[in-house]
Amino acid sequence: MRLVLVGAPGSGKGTQAQRMQARHGVPQVSTGDLLREAVAAGTELGRAAKTVMDAGHLVDDRTMLGIIRERLARPDAKPGFILDGFPRTIVQADGLEALLAEIGQPIDAVVLFDIDPGVLERRLAGRRTCKRCGRVFHVESNPPRPGETCTDGKPHDLVQRPDDNEETVRLRLAVYRERTQPLIDYYAKKNLLRRIDADGSLEDVDARLERAIS
Ligand code: AMP
Repeated sequence: MRLVLVGAPGSGKGTQAQRMQARHGVPQVSTGDLLREAVAAGTELGRAAKTVMDAGHLVDDRTMLGIIRERLARPDAKPGFILDGFPRTIVQADGLEALLAEIGQPIDAVVLFDIDPGVLERRLAGRRTCKRCGRVFHVESNPPRPGETCTDGKPHDLVQRPDDNEETVRLRLAVYRERTQPLIDYYAKKNLLRRIDADGSLEDVDARLERAIS
C-alpha cells in the first residue's frame, strides 16, 4: 500500500497514519516527525529547519525531497508507506512522482482529510505529543487512557508543539491554503484523490478512511 494523506494541520492525518501503520504493516512517513528528530539531534539540517518550523513556514522543496528520498530507501518502506505531511507543494508532488517512477512504486491513492477551519483551531489548541514515544493525543477527545504507560513503563510525558500556538497556527493554515491546497486539483486530475469527512470520532474517521482506500 502506497498512500498519501493530505489535509490542513490538525485535520488528523498524523493520528490516523499512526493507527493505520499497524493495521496495514507499512510505516507512517511523517516529514514533520523526521524534521523534529533532526531538530532534537541538533544536526545542521535540524538547526536550519527549527527556525523555519517555529515560524510556521515550509522547509524548502529541495531539502524535503532529499529527506523523503533517503527515508523511502530504508528497508521498512519496501512493502509500502503512508506519507503524512508530504508532499506539501506542487514542486514536491512532481519530485515525488519522479522518485516513485524511478523506484517503480507509484502511489495507489491520495486521501484528502476534509474539515472545517473552526474545528482545526480547537484541535490544534488541545493537541499534545508524548516527548518520549511521539504519540499524538488530544486533551479532550483523545487523552491517554487511565493508567496507560509509555514504551518505558512510565506515564506519557505530554508536551505542546512549539508551532501549535495561536499565531503560528494561523500562519500555518494560510500556508496550507496557499501552497498545499493546489494539490487537491493536481491529484484529482490524476484520478488519485479520495475525499473523506475528517470530523468525527477517531473510530468514525478510521472507518471512512478504510472505505475510501478499499
Ligand atoms: P507537521 O508535523 O506535518 O505539521 O510539520 C511541521 C512543520 O515541519 C511544518 O509546519 C513545516 O515547517 C515542516 N514540514 C513538514 N513537512 C514539510 C514538507 N513536506 N515541506 C515543507 N515543510 C515541511
